[in-house]
Amino acid sequence: MSLEIDDIHISYGKVRAVDGVTVSLPTGGRLGVIGPNGSGKSTLINAISGAVTDRGTITIDGHRLRGGSQRAAAHAGISRTYQTPQTFTELSCIENVMLGLGPGDKRAKSTGAPRERREHRRTREALALLDEVGLLDLAETSAAILTYGQQQMLGLARALATNPLVLLLDEPAAGLNSAETEALSTVLDKANARGVALLLVEHKMDFVTKLCPRIAVLSGGKLVADGPHAEVLADPRVVDAYLGAPSNA
Ligand code: ADP
Ligand code: MG
Repeated sequence: MSLEIDDIHISYGKVRAVDGVTVSLPTGGRLGVIGPNGSGKSTLINAISGAVTDRGTITIDGHRLRGGSQRAAAHAGISRTYQTPQTFTELSCIENVMLGLGPGDKRAKSTGAPRERREHRRTREALALLDEVGLLDLAETSAAILTYGQQQMLGLARALATNPLVLLLDEPAAGLNSAETEALSTVLDKANARGVALLLVEHKMDFVTKLCPRIAVLSGGKLVADGPHAEVLADPRVVDAYLGAPSNA
């Protein structure tokens, strides 16, 4: 799997949220994406995951993804988490994760396993994922009572349940305490070791640099730097992008 994002443009009215971004993520790679607020990070994730119609192309292993189709992106192995966790509060934690496993497990179908055994397997898989993100004890509990950090971890478990090739993470460490951030790091490391490529949008710089050897920087919807994190963070254009952000003006 290699993900190629080629000259993507997304505008909202006159706002050029993503303005001609070209970036790639090699098989099993890890790419950090940073930039000031409003620089287009979430919009880029939306584009890759198919939520917004884009101009430009996105290909996975040379296969072009249809813009504006979340289904096509999911089918190609792209999974994501959200900046604001999308928790189904009327469901239990395990039910939230099972949504990621999908209704029909293709592998189960091909072995002709009866429905009951299939359900057992889905339950086992969901429990294993909850265990991985530290929520096993809350499996049967309503997701409505989770803290913000726990909701982030539940969203991650649901995203991993799809067995993705590429995982897009939109500020997963925001609002997590240091123990939760450490746990998140471990889960992402493990997923990456299994071959899941990571595209990590994040503000916590030490967290990004620890996880991602390579970093891309967005500013005003444009890619202003892309390379090894030590080089990128020393780049005057990157320093400018942050110091020039409206929030500091
Ligand atoms: P980031 O994630 O880097 O903070 P976003 O991708 O959320 O940035 O936003 C980039 C720009 O696009 C901002 O100017 C934002 O206001 C605008 N934008 C994002 N989503 C929408 C939307 N749904 N409608 C209108 N403008 C949007
Ligand atoms: Mg954002």
